[in-house]
Amino acid sequence: MRRFFIESILDNVILKGDEFEHFKKVLRGKIGDKITCFCGDGKEYLCEVDKIENNYANAKVLEIKNSDKDSSLNVTVFVGIPKGDKMEFLIQKLSELGVSKIIPFESSFTIAKPKNKQDRYKKIAIEACKQCGRTIPLKVLDCVSFKEMLKSLKDYDISYFAYEQAYGGNFDDVKNHKNIALIVGSEGGFSEEESKLILEAGAKIVSLGKRILRCETAPIYAVSVIDYLTKN
Ligand code: SAM
Repeated sequence: MRRFFIESILDNVILKGDEFEHFKKVLRGKIGDKITCFCGDGKEYLCEVDKIENNYANAKVLEIKNSDKDSSLNVTVFVGIPKGDKMEFLIQKLSELGVSKIIPFESSFTIAKPKNKQDRYKKIAIEACKQCGRTIPLKVLDCVSFKEMLKSLKDYDISYFAYEQAYGGNFDDVKNHKNIALIVGSEGGFSEEESKLILEAGAKIVSLGKRILRCETAPIYAVSVIDYLTKN
């Protein structure tokens, strides 16, 4: 069934803007159509369209269900700002893998500058929800400094540091934790000094294997392992 994102849902649902255009022009929606809506509260709203005007459609809520597609874990991925549009790729893929938040950070080897693309990022996260079935969109927070990232690690049950020069370290203890941070570098990786500071901040070093993965491959690999080890 077609899925629509609505900012807030009360007794009924109003499709407007892009969601309305999609319903009317792409799907050729009509009165009586059943649609599924979500608003980021972990629920799915089964609705029936009962009114179509020039620039909006109204649907009444028939049934509300708790979603079983959202992750029970809170996984935050700290990523060194990647170049080009790799962040968009990561938002889509990490959404599918159930990640809650991406927090970009600057470090000594990051070349790309923070981008002000929150609207675009939100749109990609919502589209990913429609495709994969989750109802709470992944959030991309504003870029933080390396120091701010280190400070925030204390907010997590465990932090994993994917270090390209790690010789060992794995995710075997992840099952005991719900609130998990993962730190992955940008194309340039980490300086020795930075790796020392991350470890001093309490993160656990992990290797993602003997090959160097690209900065857009590494988080997908790591989160897939976390997801696999924690699924029940
Ligand atoms: N410029 C670095 C180098 O040449 O060694 C490589 C950086 S890599 C492209 C980007 C990030 O992915 C790394 O900083 C690290 O967080 C992660 N990564 C890539 N391969 C990894 C591996 N085998 N083990 C752990 N982390 C890895």
